[in-house]
Amino acid sequence: MKVLIHGAGVAGLTLAFELATRGADVTVIEKRRQIAGNASWQAGGMLAPWCERESAEEPVLSLGRDAADWWSAALPGHVMRNGTLVVAPARDAAELDRFGRRTSGFRSLDTEAIAALEPDLESRFGRALFFAGEAHLDPRKALPGLQEKLVQMGVRFEFGYGTASKPYVADFEADCTGIAAAQPTLRGVRGEMLILRTSEVSLARPVRLLHPRIPVYVVPRSGNLFMVGATMIECDAAGPITARSVMELLNAAYALHPAFGEAELVETGVGVRPAVADNLPRVERDGKNICINGLYRHGFLLAPAMARQAADMILGHEDEEGARP
Ligand SMILES: Cc1cc2nc3c(=O)[nH]c(=O)nc-3n(C[C@H](O)[C@H](O)[C@H](O)COP(=O)(O)OP(=O)(O)OC[C@H]3O[C@@H](n4cnc5c(N)ncnc54)[C@H](O)[C@@H]3O)c2cc1C
Repeated sequence: MKVLIHGAGVAGLTLAFELATRGADVTVIEKRRQIAGNASWQAGGMLAPWCERESAEEPVLSLGRDAADWWSAALPGHVMRNGTLVVAPARDAAELDRFGRRTSGFRSLDTEAIAALEPDLESRFGRALFFAGEAHLDPRKALPGLQEKLVQMGVRFEFGYGTASKPYVADFEADCTGIAAAQPTLRGVRGEMLILRTSEVSLARPVRLLHPRIPVYVVPRSGNLFMVGATMIECDAAGPITARSVMELLNAAYALHPAFGEAELVETGVGVRPAVADNLPRVERDGKNICINGLYRHGFLLAPAMARQAADMILGHEDEEGARP
């Protein structure tokens, strides 16, 4: 079974992995010249199904709870299973109660317990929620790592092609082109982020800072880097980050820890999340074409489940036709 996948974001790469693992002959074509710059590249890499349930429907939890296991099996050593800490400034303490009412899978921490988990946050917050079952990874290591693994498994990559090039004849084609897919129901949700560098703060896990208007998170990465994200703006413009968003994200990082005020601002980035009306992802099949899209805020969290579903449909279809698995 020859499968041609369009798009080397997290949807395309996870599908390639599921298919290659099950013996399919896979080629991935990617419009860009490298695995960088797409929505997946800008992501925080949080695998946070319990926290996301605060604003998402139930399938985000049921489809996402095994994501950390999937990534650990695919890329040993990339997943950090340190949980998520959720805090709020004293004036927004009600936000913490609201967040707790809408979620599960956490325990409440007092100041001492917060300091035991994150010594650099000692005395900064009176209460927190700790979601011990959550995890995170660094997309900028995981995506190239997955590509390298796929090449070792025999998957071919062609960079710099658009769909129009169609250089291969395949038994099945998969559209994983994110916001570029020609789907009338798709909308873009712009997400802006910053990367800061400082050796003055150390965090072991993503920390979410609640705020009624702009909840943000800080995700620690190696090399004293911190990803600060992310705005949620209903538009598909991918132009440069706005001054307002830089100010809001920096303010939030500073509220989490004043040492971020002295950090180097090493990068700003913008990604457009592909979403449909209910903000849940879809695997849709039309004959020998399949499409994975609508991953919205949950690309790393839900792509493994979507890739499994799509691989079942592709390879199950092959069985229906009596072809070689
Ligand atoms: C700031 C930000 C933070 C986020 N944080 C998280 C997080 O912490 N956890 C999480 O799970 N999710 C997170 N997300 C969401 C996640 O990034 C997206 O859901 C996910 O990246 C969507 O993946 P995708 O593969 O569908 O799209 P993309 O990553 O955009 O990939 C689509 C690819 O298709 C290529 N392409 C387009 N047209 C063609 C064509 N004609 N031919 C070939 N290739 C084509 C594009 O160049 C691109 O590489 C975040 C998103 C943003 C923006």
